[in-house]
Amino acid sequence: MSAAPNNIELSIVVPVYNEELIIDELKRRLMASAEMVTEHYEIIFVNDGSRDTSLQKLKTVCEEHDKLFYISFSRNFGHQIAITAGMDFARGNAIVTIDGDLQDPPELIAEMYAQYKEGYKVIYAKRTKRKGESLFKLLTAKMFYRLMAHLVSFDIPLDVGDYRMISRDVLDYVKKMKEYDKYLRGQIAWLGFKSTYVLYERDERKFGETNYPFKKMLRLAFNGITAFSDSPLKVATSMGFTVCLLSFIILMYAVYMFIFAKDQVLPGWASTIVSITFIGGVQLLCLGLIGEYISRIINNVRNRPLYVIDETTAKKKED
Ligand code: UDP
Ligand code: MG
Repeated sequence: MSAAPNNIELSIVVPVYNEELIIDELKRRLMASAEMVTEHYEIIFVNDGSRDTSLQKLKTVCEEHDKLFYISFSRNFGHQIAITAGMDFARGNAIVTIDGDLQDPPELIAEMYAQYKEGYKVIYAKRTKRKGESLFKLLTAKMFYRLMAHLVSFDIPLDVGDYRMISRDVLDYVKKMKEYDKYLRGQIAWLGFKSTYVLYERDERKFGETNYPFKKMLRLAFNGITAFSDSPLKVATSMGFTVCLLSFIILMYAVYMFIFAKDQVLPGWASTIVSITFIGGVQLLCLGLIGEYISRIINNVRNRPLYVIDETTAKKKED
């Protein structure tokens, strides 16, 4: 695909949400890591509607260095959208996305770049250990990645997050996938380019707390599954079938009892109640699942802009 007309070799995209305490260190380590690779780099910070002084901090560091840019959203749009905006503006040949809380060590970028030079187009940073995460998060994350791998029809890498390097042609394709309920990991895996990974231990958060409470995690997991798999819908259908069959058997039994054992007919209300509630429950579940998909159809059909930029210094690539 298109060669970059400007000669930026490396773009680093960093979503930032309430990270005021860490921005100076973040900038320092990112710049040092980028310089290990090339002097032709840019770092794009995406301020995702932070409520603290992150934006002011970002403005200050971006004024000091001409390779640093920021994009600031009008409100909080979420992690995946923030990364997407940064990628839309990235002009480099290789594009890194990395969290802004320094849980992912920027020093890995050189190692990723070496793999990129070997010809890999997607280089994941794969977590061998995750420090300072609750057992619950570890377990649910592990379960989710495996469930996801089981449900989709393409290879999905295990235990990777959004810390990765992709090449320009991968980026150009990702930009064409304008889905609203973003699950970038899935999108990139779906593209199926030649990929590899570098290993690292995930650090604990130094400041602040996770911006991914359980509810957001669940949302991301649901987006991931519904964006790439119809299996939940199929579960609903097969459950519907099973229950129908079951109720048919019960019906046959009732008819049999009525004809051949009329005098000992069961005082039916318990079984009636049970079957009514059971079927009611199954119906609700199916409706709920269908609703999930419909809400996603609506989201995509609306065709709203994914994000709203309040102000920015980042420049788009012209091609
Ligand atoms: N983040 C964001 N918008 C949000 C939530 C998080 O841009 O609504 C950023 C956050 O600043 C961090 C990254 O996304 O750089 C990952 O978030 P977090 O560390 O809270 O997630 P975790 O590491 O716990 O999965
Ligand atoms: Mg984090």
